[in-house]
Amino acid sequence: MSLTPTKSTELLIDGQLVPGSGGAFDVINPATEEVIGQAAEATAADLDAAIEAARRAFDTTDWSRDHAFRARCLRQLRDALKGHTEELRELTVAEVGCPVFLTHGPQLDGPIDDLGYFADLAENYEWTTDLGVAKPMGIKNHREIRSEAVGVVGAITPWNFPHQINFAKIGPALAAGCTVVLKPAPDTPWCAALVGKVIAEETDIPPGVINIVTSTDHGLGAQLTTDPRVDLVTFTGSTETGRKVMAAAAPSLKKVFLELGGKSAFIVLDDADLATACSMAAFNVVTHAGQGCAITTRLLVPRDKLFTATELTRDALAGLAAGDPTASGTICGPLVSARQRERVEEYLQIAVAEGGTIECGGGRPADQERGYFISPTLISGLSNSARVAQEEIFGPVLVIMAHDGDDDAIAIANDSPYGLSGQVWGTDPARIDRVVSGVRTGTMGINGGIWYAADVPFGGYKQSGIGREMGVAGFAEYLETKSVARPA
Ligand code: NAD
Repeated sequence: MSLTPTKSTELLIDGQLVPGSGGAFDVINPATEEVIGQAAEATAADLDAAIEAARRAFDTTDWSRDHAFRARCLRQLRDALKGHTEELRELTVAEVGCPVFLTHGPQLDGPIDDLGYFADLAENYEWTTDLGVAKPMGIKNHREIRSEAVGVVGAITPWNFPHQINFAKIGPALAAGCTVVLKPAPDTPWCAALVGKVIAEETDIPPGVINIVTSTDHGLGAQLTTDPRVDLVTFTGSTETGRKVMAAAAPSLKKVFLELGGKSAFIVLDDADLATACSMAAFNVVTHAGQGCAITTRLLVPRDKLFTATELTRDALAGLAAGDPTASGTICGPLVSARQRERVEEYLQIAVAEGGTIECGGGRPADQERGYFISPTLISGLSNSARVAQEEIFGPVLVIMAHDGDDDAIAIANDSPYGLSGQVWGTDPARIDRVVSGVRTGTMGINGGIWYAADVPFGGYKQSGIGREMGVAGFAEYLETKSVARPA
């Protein structure tokens, strides 16, 4: 089987690869602006069939009870995908515009490997916990707690790290015994659809257990949130859409699990190595052109070091120019779409209108005639109440601000509706620890520490989300708890 999509990808519904009832839509390479193929355009009727298949597979097969079979299927999927890694790498860079170096980590190789972690969980999880005997109401009872799959999962994902986010939902949901309908973002249909092709053609995953429905119609996401046959909606995307998902899921009282936006702080303490910290802050914000929810986009430095830190960060950003994502040295590729680039450009105008200074970058690079590129940008001269310091931009844009000591840095970091991630740089372990515990976010890195791994839970405080993805906590999101007792 060749993975190279020469014409168009298909939907995966009830084990069959089928065309979209709505025809097909164009897939665009963000680095060249060229149409590189098509993806199947699903309609509401296609999604309805996918939900029905997932419901039937959950209700009428042993999928949710057969832990060993699910582990085998997940490992089979991982191994089948590994057989296509280089084709997947090429098409992921072409469709997402992500730098190829990232595909050796969280954009491809990492998420494929992570399927093995979820297979191990299916096999080794303590599905039943024996609580022993107790005497409720004076009668001896033997009690146990069982974990069971939630049911049909509607998974809605964004475009920025498609494999990572798709597999962080599919992996634990299948391991838990759920069945899934995945609706990926319209910007990155191939990453999902080609996984669907591998599932259909190279695995024993039964029909209906996983269904993949690509579409340009956001209404299909909304349909997943309201359909009563769906038991849980797992959503990654913007906080604005997350609110809609939660509200729409309320009438049918679905479980809702949300991974949303961020505006994370990179805190430099006064005993940190300033040059190293500033170059890491620059590197972070240009990675995948800043299109990562956990990327640190506010740089907080000691007030007496603001001038030097601004110069250091500006110099570091100058060495990280936006460019061809297929080149091995590129860190900052294009933004995913013209729409996303316009959004970033609007924020750059807002920054200037609010009195900010563009220290470097600030627009499209002169040397890139095509592609949705924005030059790495540093903004100074604004306080934390500025819109570019409060709102998620999702581009290679860093806002540098001064703090007046550790507690002030914590307060500025927390002065945000978001609470997803952060970094602290310093040398005194006690001061670092105080900052780590003071910042209200779901993840924190110390001196460049990288928390991303299959066994590490990821998610947000405050308006960055509800629930955790990855790790045992992420797996448990897809489980119900059943308490059982019998007379002893
Ligand atoms: P988005 O919210 O516009 O769309 C995400 C998905 O939701 C897409 O598949 C879209 O089709 C679907 N959708 C749109 N409207 C819907 C509705 N009313 N009901 C149900 N589904 C709907 O986000 P995006 O622009 O694709 O992605 C960027 C955003 O995702 C950023 O805000 C980023 O921070 C966030 N994100 C969060 C995480 C995380 O784990 N916290 C990870 C990656 C991206």
